[in-house]
Amino acid sequence: MRVLLRSMLFALVCLGGVTAWNYAQEYLSGIVWPMPPIIKPGDATTAPSDAVVLFDGKNLDAWVNGDKWKIKEGVATASGGGIHTKQGFGDCQIHLEFATPAKVEGSGQGRGNSGVYIMGRYEVQILDSFENETYFDGQCGAIYKQQPPMVNASRGPGEWQSYDIFFTAPKFHPDGSLNKPAYLTVVHNGVLIHNHVELSGGTSWSEPPRYSSHPEKEPLHLQFHGNPVQFRNIWVRENMQALVGKK
Ligand code: MG
Repeated sequence: MRVLLRSMLFALVCLGGVTAWNYAQEYLSGIVWPMPPIIKPGDATTAPSDAVVLFDGKNLDAWVNGDKWKIKEGVATASGGGIHTKQGFGDCQIHLEFATPAKVEGSGQGRGNSGVYIMGRYEVQILDSFENETYFDGQCGAIYKQQPPMVNASRGPGEWQSYDIFFTAPKFHPDGSLNKPAYLTVVHNGVLIHNHVELSGGTSWSEPPRYSSHPEKEPLHLQFHGNPVQFRNIWVRENMQALVGKK
């Protein structure tokens, strides 16, 4: 009997709730959305199912000059020159992991220097910036000579670090002039260091940044700056378009 009373009371409360809800009209946008594609997310060692895998520890076949770098135990070590992807990328999400040399040699820009050159010309700096001073817009995570990272989230020499980069490619008018600039968002070791930063052009050591027209997709370049920086788990996702619904 007590159970019956309790369930009757529960039903009344629920009905009351439904009635209260009915006073308000649910907002409906009227937009019919396509279903977001179902992908398998990666984990610490694997890429998401819709990613272009550029290095999974086995070989650098996706790269031009990849044979110059040494691969051992799933890790690629920079040597003998830079490498760039055979495939071009425009708007994209890039994930990579790197470790600057455990044996500390050199200082400033000479210590653990490499770089992620998006479209071959927009560099997110790789450097050993753990207790290593250099100019701020050239330290690890800097958009080289354009924007220092918001914080220095560097790990120590020899420790694995990660970049998650979200890049919007610049757009050019048919006459070659700039239509829309490039934007970068960068997460370093899980920490936001650039939030939708507008780029002023290519990142050069010797010239001020400026744009010069280039194709919609260009190879990703990893720099060799004389230091044996290590890499693993490199992948790119190109699906950067928001879904479009229909009214
Ligand atoms: Mg560099």
